[in-house]
This record gives sequence, structure tokens and C-alpha cells, in this order.
Amino acid sequence: MAKHTIVLIPGDGIGPEVTLATRRVVEAAGLSVEWVELPAGATALEQGFDNVLPQRTLAAIQAHKVALKGPVTTPIGKGFTSVNVQLRKKLNLYAAVRPALSLDAVKTRFEKVNIVVVRENTEGLYSGLEQEVVPGVVTSLKVATEVACTRIARFAFRYATRNQRKKITVLHKANIMKMSDGLLLACARRIYEEEYPNIQYEELIIDAGSMKLVQDPSRFDMLLTENLYGDVISDLCAGLVGGLGVVPGANFGDDAAMFEAVHGSAPDIAGKNLANPLALIMSAVLMLKHIHEDAIGAKIEAAYKQVLSEGKTLTRDLGGSAGTTEFADTVIANLK
Ligand code: NAD
Repeated sequence: MAKHTIVLIPGDGIGPEVTLATRRVVEAAGLSVEWVELPAGATALEQGFDNVLPQRTLAAIQAHKVALKGPVTTPIGKGFTSVNVQLRKKLNLYAAVRPALSLDAVKTRFEKVNIVVVRENTEGLYSGLEQEVVPGVVTSLKVATEVACTRIARFAFRYATRNQRKKITVLHKANIMKMSDGLLLACARRIYEEEYPNIQYEELIIDAGSMKLVQDPSRFDMLLTENLYGDVISDLCAGLVGGLGVVPGANFGDDAAMFEAVHGSAPDIAGKNLANPLALIMSAVLMLKHIHEDAIGAKIEAAYKQVLSEGKTLTRDLGGSAGTTEFADTVIANLK
């Protein structure tokens, strides 16, 4: 088997704990891999770098093209642009994909949720363009470009086709933001009509869409939306299937891909061996698919599903009392 080189960013807070657990599971499942471990976030500053995203870390991802990343903390109010925003923009990781899938063993209010959120990752209100117009009056610029809107729409339809998904719902607020959200709608509609008429297509205003999501998530298949709405809706969908501990994430560009859980660095439980590593383990399964190691990914998926269905070794967020390490050990013990 060819050896893979993967950049590993442990990150901050619970990041080092969940990345270590994931790394152990991936190696035990048989991946031949060299990890290039590099810092980002508050950890990078602690290690003496002058930026939360050191040039070395960025260059390594550009060189090796695949990264597995723990969550990072961006110091608030110290003039640093968020690591995640920097990574997504500098590596042009324009598409965030977040599958929210019901797990039989994780009981929630809903069953059989199977939604993939596709979020535009590079513009919208994350443009970072803010200014004080006059004292006491500030603005944030919401940017939408035809290039980025077309690119994310085409990505979503291509993903739907490759992954046998049937319907895309665009969540928007074009009744108010007629130009910016209107542009995404126009681009999505065009891609649907001209390139993918075989996929069902619908448009929903995001407020009504949110209500429908919590009333009956089974009516949704894929959601396509701009940056900020995508951020919020991903967490909402995580809540439908058991919380942030069970939702993986992937960020794709044309030249690189980065895999990370939806959750943050959880400073409230950091360093206590309490974090659920499953979301990052699931993100690693998405990564294994991306690097064409589907069989290893399937092995890991079968093992964590077995652990969940036995229900004896669950972390605290899923109602159990197992620690991060114990959960990873049990997944490893169940690898076949
Ligand atoms: P959070 O996701 O870190 O935590 C929200 C709640 O969920 C907390 O109670 C936490 O204990 C719990 N939680 C999160 N992940 C968990 C896990 N794996 N297992 C068990 N419980 C878990 O969100 P927050 O508190 O809003 O943010 C904390 C920090 O994380 C902030 O600095 C934020 O900027 C950062 N953040 C980073 C990323 C990222 O790097 N991708 C994403 C979101 C937030």
C-alpha cells in the first residue's frame, strides 16, 4: 500500500486529545501514513510563532494537499484573523461538507435524518471587511461573487450526483438580500437547469426552512447555503442527530482538502479526557474516502457503530461515562 503523507494539526483545547485518539484509530485500522504534525491557533502563539496560522503549517498543507485538523481557538480581540477563515481562504477550500446522519445507537427526537449541508466557505459575511463609518457606527460587508456562487452550486450538484443524493434545497434570504443571496439563487438555478436537471431542486427562505428542519428533517436531503447560514444550519443539523460529538466535516478546494469536526475547542472540558473523539474519527473516515482508502474507512465505521450499539463505552455527551482514550481503545478493539 502506498504511504500517505497527511498534515496533522492538533489545534487547541480538546484538539490534541481528539486528534491523538483519531490518529491511533486510523493507524490501528491499517493506514500506511506519515503524519506531518504542525501547530495552528493559540498553540502556535504559545510555541513562539507570530501568527495563529504559521507559514510552515500553510505550506505543508499546500505541499501534501490533505490535512486532518483539530479545533482551534482564535484569541478574541487581539487582531488575529480566525485560523479557520485564513485556512479556507488561503487554500481556497471553498466547499464545506457536513453530513448529519442519524446513528441507530444515538437516540434523539428524530430518526433517519440523513442531511448533507454544503456551505460556501470563502465569502459572505466572513469577508473580514468591517469598518467604523463614524464613531458608534460599524459595517460588515457581505460579499457574493458570481464565480464563488457558481463554483459552490456546481460543487453541490456534482456531490449529489457522485453520492446518489436526490434533492438540493437552497436556503436563502433573497427576499431581503436581493442582490447577494439573490446571486447565489440565480447561480444555483442556472446550474440546476443547464447541467443537473435530473436532481430535484428547491429554494426555501431560511427562516421558514429552519422551522421545517426541526419539524420534519426527513423531507431534506442536501442543503446548499452561503457562509454564515451554513455555519448556523450545520450546528442545527448536528443537534438533530445527537450533537456536535457525532458530526464530521470536510473542506474541499480544487488543490487541497482539510477534514475537521464541526465542534470547537471546548475549553470547558479540555485536558480532562472527557471529549468525544467520534466526530473527528468520522471526519477521518471522510478523509480516507478522499484518499481512496475506502476499505479502511469502512472498517473504522463498522467498529464505531459496534461500540455505539453496545452502548457500554459512550462518552459523557452521549450519556455515558467513558473517557476519550477509553472510547478510542474500544473502537480499536472492535476493528475487524
Ligand atoms: P464548542 O463546540 O467548542 O463547544 C460547545 C459545547 O459543546 C461545549 O459545552 C463543549 O464542551 C461541547 N463539545 C464540543 N465538542 C465536544 C466533543 N467533541 N465532545 C464532548 N463535548 C463537546 O463551541 P464554543 O464553546 O462556542 O467554542 C469554543 C472555541 O472553539 C472558540 O474559541 C471558537 O472560536 C472555537 N471553534 C473552533 C472551531 C474550529 O476550529 N473548527 C469551530 C467552532 C468553534
